[in-house]
Amino acid sequence: MITGAGDGTRCVHGGRGDDVLGAPVHPGPVLSSTFHLGLPADPTPPDFYGRADNPTWRALEAAIGLLDGGGCVSFSSGMAAIAAVLRVGAPRGALVLPSDGYYLARALAHGELAPLGVEVREVPTAGEWPDGVLDGAGLVVVETPSNPGLDVIDIEWAAGAAHAAGALLAVDNTTATPLGQQPLELGADLTVASDTKALAGHGDVVLGHVSTRDDELLARLREARSRGGAIPGPMEAWLAHRGLATLDLRLARQAANAAALVEVLLRHPAVRDVRWPGHPDDPSHAVAARQMRRWNGVLGFTLPSTEAVGEFLAVSRLVGSATSFGGLRTTADRRQRWGDDVVDGQVRLSAGCEDPADLVADIRAALDAVRR
Ligand SMILES: *Cc1c(COP(=O)(O)O)cnc(C)c1O
Repeated sequence: MITGAGDGTRCVHGGRGDDVLGAPVHPGPVLSSTFHLGLPADPTPPDFYGRADNPTWRALEAAIGLLDGGGCVSFSSGMAAIAAVLRVGAPRGALVLPSDGYYLARALAHGELAPLGVEVREVPTAGEWPDGVLDGAGLVVVETPSNPGLDVIDIEWAAGAAHAAGALLAVDNTTATPLGQQPLELGADLTVASDTKALAGHGDVVLGHVSTRDDELLARLREARSRGGAIPGPMEAWLAHRGLATLDLRLARQAANAAALVEVLLRHPAVRDVRWPGHPDDPSHAVAARQMRRWNGVLGFTLPSTEAVGEFLAVSRLVGSATSFGGLRTTADRRQRWGDDVVDGQVRLSAGCEDPADLVADIRAALDAVRR
């Protein structure tokens, strides 16, 4: 019934079940690790042990699956979701990963899969892929917009190239969220995300998920979760489901704030290399505008030095110095701190849900302090 509904309606109603007389409109999390099994003759119910399944996970998975357009498996973190995808994909052939995407995905592949004999190759998100890089590939992972560079890759093209080589395509959709981009609709086999970011959106949970339209892959991912044990806590799943209900509203405000801040940043003499795929002059804009449904609050810019970033943060009263993104509060993260291959003054800014005028005034004043 709500499949064809708008973004706000699907966010509010997804995974909420039928209206049952006397049942709670807002049920709480099911925290039990173990469930009644009845007599030996009774069939094993869907819920029997808390590592295998849980009603609170299923509600969240129904809500995210509705947005992704596939079946969803929830994990204890974005990295747990990525790890499950890599483990399920690795036996199929070489693993192709973005050279400029989330750093721990590369670290996992090189540090734990390569020693087991998996061939790991890297490709840039923007720009040409080397000839033959997909020969013998079993799984191709792309991340778009990429974190932290905010480069964009054409998902339909990547799906065609991966499939022609006999490989699966997985898209890390963390930055875009399912409202911003529909990888499965664009031909990807798997869409994976850190729900720690905008999807849960309140900075109070670490969580991730994978969605797919392929029932066999879905079953293998569920198995991988049970065997690997990287299961979401029911409380976290419940918080994420509660947070997800306002994703449409939060994204709208965050994107509006990002659009306003980009205009300030582009005109400020202390700032260079402003990146936001939503801006018509951004190098990513043409491809992003073709495949993304809406924008979000994650942008990038570069200040002259680490000290300049310090001056900016010290003067701002609204921008928090914190990693992660997609939360209610505007935050800035100097990415070189984490070993990303970027210059020292590079900042990833996550526009929050504050009032645009307040943010613009605050950030303008903080940038002016950098100039002096
Ligand atoms: C944060 C992030 C991850 C890892 O997710 P966690 O929930 O922190 O484990 C993966 N991919 C991208 C693009 C991210 O931003």
